[in-house]
Amino acid sequence: MSDYLPLVHLYIHVPFCARRCSYCDFAIAVRREVPSQQFVDAGLAEWRTWQAHPAWIDSPSLATIYLGGGTPSHLDAGQLDRLISTIAGERAIDPDAEITLEANPEDVTHANATAWLAAGVNRISLGVQSFDDAVLTWMHRVHDAAAVSSAMSMLRSAGFTNVSVDLIFALPEALQRDWARDLDMALALEPEHLSLYGLTIEEGTPLGRWTARGESMPSPDERYAAEYLAAHRALAAAGFEHYEVSNAGREGHRASHNSAYWRRAPFIGLGPSAHSGFGSRRSWNVREWAQYQRLADAHATVRAEEETLNAEQLRLEELYLGLRTTEGLASELLPATAGVAWAASGWAEVADGRVRLTPEGWLRLDALVRSVA
Ligand code: SF4
Repeated sequence: MSDYLPLVHLYIHVPFCARRCSYCDFAIAVRREVPSQQFVDAGLAEWRTWQAHPAWIDSPSLATIYLGGGTPSHLDAGQLDRLISTIAGERAIDPDAEITLEANPEDVTHANATAWLAAGVNRISLGVQSFDDAVLTWMHRVHDAAAVSSAMSMLRSAGFTNVSVDLIFALPEALQRDWARDLDMALALEPEHLSLYGLTIEEGTPLGRWTARGESMPSPDERYAAEYLAAHRALAAAGFEHYEVSNAGREGHRASHNSAYWRRAPFIGLGPSAHSGFGSRRSWNVREWAQYQRLADAHATVRAEEETLNAEQLRLEELYLGLRTTEGLASELLPATAGVAWAASGWAEVADGRVRLTPEGWLRLDALVRSVA
């Protein structure tokens, strides 16, 4: 067995959504009817191309599987089961593997939740975003707030004991979103994990167009910072460990799959736009579902590009990944004065030979990395 390759992590990008959310620029395909069988056929065709790949031929098994999107919960549950069981039949999945499915609340029925669990899924990442119906409508989300508590009840009654909730903060002021109330409502659901994302305005999205026309104003930086820090305090008070810029979990519930990215563990990405990485090698797939399907069905490569990171790029990545978690970065990887100066500003703590950013530091992550890169 190779020393270089420990367990491999698998990401599967399921691109289908019922409609595009107002802020979303992900690689998605809007479909009323999800072509589940075609997707699983194409994904498995790509999966098989990886089996003989020299980069992971010696790797013993898969450590985690993460089905993201898009909206993987739109996939037909029987096809999801075929996808996971076929993969498991061809490459061992670690007995303790975390297998996550991103789910939108409107897809969580008792039948689906039971079928996901039976297929091997043991963690749900629930796309909640807000509990304010006016905000959800503005976001073009399909669900309303009532659907969230119903989804959580069904997940629990089906037997899920590891559920993460996604929330978006720093919304335009005009929406009058009550962030404290949304945090309270999220915590009242008693999830094991929470992910917090600041709203970003991307060109080509409905929100990008509204903003360009002056119909929507971005949240000021002060509001972004205030909501982020308020979330940190609320989560800490509720017993969560804020262990990464955007993620907080109860003890024993850090997201294993995402943590693998931050440790630079090897990962394979299947599906349109999915990325893969082994050591310094990175590759990514074609973005559009139709092109991906055509290529996969023809047993042609679905890879759009690949690159090998040079020493400078690897260092930059190491800085970003190290500083984004509470593991921090070895002090010797930074200029001697950086950690001390950051600590004096309240942006970092320096202990045990490591520099760990505080939430105030995470708010400045890009600038801090740039200052030492
Ligand atoms: S559900 Fe997620 S992936 Fe789909 S459009 Fe909305 S934000 Fe984008």
